[in-house]
Amino acid sequence: MYFQPEIETMDREKLRDLQLTRMQESAKNAFDNIEFYRKSFGEAGVTPDDLKSFDDLTKFPFVTKQDMRDAYPFAMFARPMVDVARIHASSGTTGQATVVGHTANDLKHWGECFARGIYMVNGGPQSTLQVSYGYGLFTGGLGAHAGGEAVGCAVIPTSSGNTKRQVQMMRDCKTDILACTPSYALLIADTAIEMGYKPWEEFPISGGIFGAEPASDNMREEIASKLGIQYCDVYGLSEIMGPGVAMECAERHGLHIAEDHFYCEIIDPETLKPVPDGEWGELVITTLTRECCPLIRYRTRDVTRIISEPCACGRTHRKIDKLRGRTDDMLIIRGVNVFPSQIEQVITTFPEVATHYLITLTNKGPLDHVLLQVETEPGFPIDEIRKLEDLKARLGAELKSNLQVSVEIQLVEPKTLERSMGKAKRVIDLREGTHA
Ligand SMILES: [Zn+2]
Repeated sequence: MYFQPEIETMDREKLRDLQLTRMQESAKNAFDNIEFYRKSFGEAGVTPDDLKSFDDLTKFPFVTKQDMRDAYPFAMFARPMVDVARIHASSGTTGQATVVGHTANDLKHWGECFARGIYMVNGGPQSTLQVSYGYGLFTGGLGAHAGGEAVGCAVIPTSSGNTKRQVQMMRDCKTDILACTPSYALLIADTAIEMGYKPWEEFPISGGIFGAEPASDNMREEIASKLGIQYCDVYGLSEIMGPGVAMECAERHGLHIAEDHFYCEIIDPETLKPVPDGEWGELVITTLTRECCPLIRYRTRDVTRIISEPCACGRTHRKIDKLRGRTDDMLIIRGVNVFPSQIEQVITTFPEVATHYLITLTNKGPLDHVLLQVETEPGFPIDEIRKLEDLKARLGAELKSNLQVSVEIQLVEPKTLERSMGKAKRVIDLREGTHA
């Protein structure tokens, strides 16, 4: 079932026509009403009239998060305050906050985008949706809430925190669908289990919509089995809208982009040129319907790829793959793009090793050399040479086939690698001529 069948299963040619028309309107809205675009389009020698095909879009300049920070607070607004219905802002933990305004139409579209995901987990007006994302300037809570209201669900706005009460509400109010971050979903599940419940069989919950932070495949499985639910991954970012830009259907192979509202490109983050469909790179989004804060070619820094094969669920909108990381984390090793998250993904499939690892890059002659140090699990007999060599060989072969790069592996005893209190240091780049 679909929330908006006429849009979600629209003939692709019609959808492309709709995208192009809306893209032209969006570029015009940006150019006519925002000084930043008049300047940046001018520097690139283009006007909205030059946008006659999708290929023409590549002539237009990018917008970065820094541009939005520089525009703080309202310089990227295309509408006067009388038309603004709500303002959200990013946390600003890594610099100046970014502020995004929404008109009433922008909020309506946002609710509809998220509502499509509620149907992807078999929800509908009969469903009870518990929103355990934080409410506030962060877009998670109110975004999911708007989705529930668009569908006509009974929405329980628990926000985050007070986890025992979350569990009690979930049980007593017969929550069907939970929306929150993956890590909070896991905490809710574990808390329910600690309270003596078996949520996977005792609670009626059948779906979960989780996003705003990365989750490994193992973590997804753990959440899905502990709660007994279908897991729906949701993608979004506050600069573009919030959760609902893309959502994962029951086929579990990628997230359908709301292509009637967003046009996605994938670029090589080094050359900034578009890559063919199916290749990994940085996601660049152009908003097609945003009235207050239109964005033309916004560089998300998120790494994914386009999946253009038709989906068995019947939706015609293309998909993005599960995010692989951020371009800021990307390493170029012998000309190949490698993400620490890819290495981590391989490591987690080997029960003999822990997820504590360190990658050291050096030049050995003309070639890059990769040393991966990984801690073994406490039970592994690290003194038994044959078992050690066997594990190294298997891990090395798996990494080679996943990354297309040879890696020297050093297995070390548990708790040998340095721990940090904040973000773990995973990569040391000692190569000459690179600045990582
Ligand atoms: Zn699908």
